[in-house]
Amino acid sequence: MSFYQTYRPKKISELDLASVREVLSSSMSSGKISHAYLFVGPRGSGKTSTARILAQIVNCRRNEGKTKDFSEPCGECESCLVIARGSSVDVIEIDAASNGLVDDIRELRERVRLAPVQLGKKVYIIDEVHMVSTAGFNALLKTLEEPPEHALFILCTTESQKVPETIVSRCARVNFTKATVTEVMQSLLKAVKGEEMTVDEEALTEIAEATDGSFREGHKLLEQLAAFGKKIDSSSVSRILGVAGKHSVKKLLDAAVKQKTNEVIQTFEEMEKMGTKASVLATTLLGVAKSEMEQCVREGRSPEKLVLLIDALIMAADKIKISPLPLLPLEIALLSISIGGSGEESRPKVSNPAPEKKPVEDQVMKTVSVITESVEVVIDPVKVETQGSKVTLDEVKTGWGNFLHHMSESNGSLAGMLRLVEPVYVEGKSLTISVTSRFQQEMLEREIKKKIIEEQMAKVWGPLTFKCVLTDKIIRTQPSIEDENLSVVNTPVDTVQGVMLAAEKIFG
Ligand SMILES: [Zn+2]
Repeated sequence: MSFYQTYRPKKISELDLASVREVLSSSMSSGKISHAYLFVGPRGSGKTSTARILAQIVNCRRNEGKTKDFSEPCGECESCLVIARGSSVDVIEIDAASNGLVDDIRELRERVRLAPVQLGKKVYIIDEVHMVSTAGFNALLKTLEEPPEHALFILCTTESQKVPETIVSRCARVNFTKATVTEVMQSLLKAVKGEEMTVDEEALTEIAEATDGSFREGHKLLEQLAAFGKKIDSSSVSRILGVAGKHSVKKLLDAAVKQKTNEVIQTFEEMEKMGTKASVLATTLLGVAKSEMEQCVREGRSPEKLVLLIDALIMAADKIKISPLPLLPLEIALLSISIGGSGEESRPKVSNPAPEKKPVEDQVMKTVSVITESVEVVIDPVKVETQGSKVTLDEVKTGWGNFLHHMSESNGSLAGMLRLVEPVYVEGKSLTISVTSRFQQEMLEREIKKKIIEEQMAKVWGPLTFKCVLTDKIIRTQPSIEDENLSVVNTPVDTVQGVMLAAEKIFG
């Protein structure tokens, strides 16, 4: 038996969804058990398990003759046992998704009149009831209009809007919502305990978050992990999931937004060791950032920082393929938010103590110089001598590696950002560089940053000023299939609305 079956709840009080537990407990004590229920909720949320518990409650010897204060199933009497084994002729489970159903329902109308054979009550559990045909619904409706005393109907569906209103109105509706992360974790803990496994809390959180609110998925994942051993930590979860789990991605985003740069660097080191796929990480990062941004909007907080981050991530996603270190563009995007962060200059220097910042810049410098090394053109001493005379675009392009090198010595995060732009035009002493987002433009053209950049430019080409133009520079004639998800990146996304729109396009 699978974990999900073995550790499924056996009593109402053991149900993992708090809301369902409360509704059904109160009907048990008040005795208001309906003759027909409609269980609505996503797959794996425990509808069928709950239906079986209800079948036991109405049939358990403990509850014989009761009209209220129903007990939980005893689990020991003949009725409880036969239902648990799934072998009672009076508990009829019908899967509406399978064929031949119309006949089943028509027959049901005849047979439902017959008294139960083994148990006190006949229980009909109809799964995926929205798949029933019109003829089937008509037959079902007639039955529900005059239900025999000895029958209980439990209709389950993932799509209640497809169930006719006439049926819905005759049932007591119970909503099975998507499980919360905590609810999935609590459910998983039963299996962890039962299987004598050791799972640290972070790993358990990651499993729960990866299941999208489904108990069944959670147990499936845990079972897969159990095959590798009884001790499970967050790295084994990542191995199974193939990517960094949502939980660690959320932590990473948090670290970037809260300017915990060391944590960002450390996380990337770990992900590199684990072989995290950059394209998958980009998608997960954007997905998490998107929902956090929406959360901000809903709560009336400013989503500005997250919008900037999303913009930077979309830019970085496009660089993954051309970077010798695929994770690096993402790391630079997060670090540029976290170091250069929005409105940072306006903060007094003291609030950003040097010892915290220094090692980070060193790190960025290191990473940037790795790139510089791989693309750098031999530094031509003649270029330095061009000071004072006119500079050509070719000279700028040739000296760009050298310039980035100087830049990284003076300001690592700016160097990282300048790696993502391209010199396009020189007129006299003015250089035009193309950027692909307004975010980059704003960052680079801020007075303080502009001064730092021009200082370093002077070292290579002599006095030079620069301005940014916003262009849609990456034009692919034939996007590869793998690129399709990212093709929207080519649209200039330079406004909050644009970013939201692009994010919508990518994530639906
Ligand atoms: Zn019993």
